[in-house]
Amino acid sequence: MMEPMDLSFILNELGEERDGYFGAIAPPIIQTSNFRVKKVDELRGLFADEYSGYLYSRGINPTVDILRQKLAALDGAEDALVFNSGAAAIFAGVVSQVAAGDHIISVREPYTWARQMFDQILPRFQVTTTYVDGTIIENFTAALQPNTRLIYLESPNSWTFALQDLAAVSALAREHGIVTICDNSYCTPLFQQPIALGVDLVLQSATKYISGHSDTVAGVLSGRRERIKKIFDSEYLNIGSGIQPFNAWLLIRGLRTLPARLERCTRTLAQVLPFLKQHPRIEAVWFPLDEDFPQIALARQQMKGACGLVTLVMKAKTRAEIVRFCERLQHILLAVSWGGHESLVIPRCASLQEAEFDANNQDHRLVRLYIGLEDADYLIADLDQALAQM
Ligand SMILES: *Cc1c(COP(=O)(O)O)cnc(C)c1O
Repeated sequence: MMEPMDLSFILNELGEERDGYFGAIAPPIIQTSNFRVKKVDELRGLFADEYSGYLYSRGINPTVDILRQKLAALDGAEDALVFNSGAAAIFAGVVSQVAAGDHIISVREPYTWARQMFDQILPRFQVTTTYVDGTIIENFTAALQPNTRLIYLESPNSWTFALQDLAAVSALAREHGIVTICDNSYCTPLFQQPIALGVDLVLQSATKYISGHSDTVAGVLSGRRERIKKIFDSEYLNIGSGIQPFNAWLLIRGLRTLPARLERCTRTLAQVLPFLKQHPRIEAVWFPLDEDFPQIALARQQMKGACGLVTLVMKAKTRAEIVRFCERLQHILLAVSWGGHESLVIPRCASLQEAEFDANNQDHRLVRLYIGLEDADYLIADLDQALAQM
C-alpha cells in the first residue's frame, strides 16, 4: 500500500508535466506507434526491459502513463496497467496468476465474461474453478484445494450487490499463499479501496464511472509494482490490448469530474430511492447502502459510497408487464452498461422467452436501474408514468 495522496492532486496534477508541453492544461495525445532513439544501445536497453521507457505504444506510451499514474494512486497501488476493456483487464489479471493444474475459487456470479473465461477458456488449459456464495467467509475455506492459486472477488456484484468481506477473504488467502483479485467496478476507488483491505490485484471497468460519458471502453488492473511489471512483460504485451492514447486521454478527462459525478449520482439516487421503495408495483429495491439491505453493516464497514445502480424486484405475473415498463420509459434508456451521464434500465428477463418466464422466480423479475446525472424529478416522473402503464 502507498501513502495516500490528496485526491485533488491526483486528478489535477499527478503525472502531468506541463512544462514539457507548452503549459497546456490538458495533456497532449501522443498518438504515435513508435518512438525514435538516438543510440543503438538505447534500443538494447529497451529490448531487455520494455517497461523502462518509450519503444512502441503496445507497451509504454506517455499519454497512457499519465493515466496509469493517476489510476494507481486512486487505487492506493504502486502501479497500474490500463487495457482496452475491463474484460481484457480481467483476462490478463487472471491468466497471469495461474498455470495448468491450478484451481480458482470465484464468487458465484462474477461478471459475465469472467464467468465465460472460467467456464469455457481456462478448462482447456486444465485450470478449474469452484464457485462459492461469497457472502459467507466459511465457503471460501470449504472450497480450498491444495492447488488453489487464486480467489476471484467482485464486491459488490452489479446486480444483487452481494458483498464479500474483503479484509477477511484476503487474510485467509494470504495464510494459504493464494492471490486475491477483486472487481471494483461498482464502487470505483473513490468508494472502496480493496488494496488497503489486503487484496493483491484490483480491477475495474473504466468504461463505467471513470469514463463517465459512455464514449470509451477500457479497464484497469492495479497492484504491487513487481506483480504489475510481470504482467506487463508477459500478458499485457502479448495480448496487445493496452489502451490507445486517445482513449487514455478521454479517461484522464473523465477523471477530472469523477468526484463531482459520483456525488451527483449519490444525491439523485437518494431522492429516487424513496419513490421506488413505496411504489405498489415494486416488491423490493436492492441497494447496498439501503437500511433494508441484508449486508448493510459490511457495506458501511468497507465502502464509502454506492453511486447510481439499484435493482428493482418488480411485481409482475408476465414478462410482458416488465417489457412494457422498460419500453414505456421516455427518458431512461434501455441499454447495457452504466456509469455514464444518462440513466439506463435493463431487465433480467431480456434473455428469456415469454414461455420461459416464471413469475415465482424472483430472478426473472429483476430490473436494474442506473441513475445518471439527470434531475431527480425528471427521472421520478418518467418512472412513475412507465410503472402506471405496466
Ligand atoms: C462492465 C463490467 C466489466 C467489463 O468491462 P468492459 O469494459 O465492458 O470490458 C467487468 N466487471 C463489471 C462488474 C462490469 O460492470
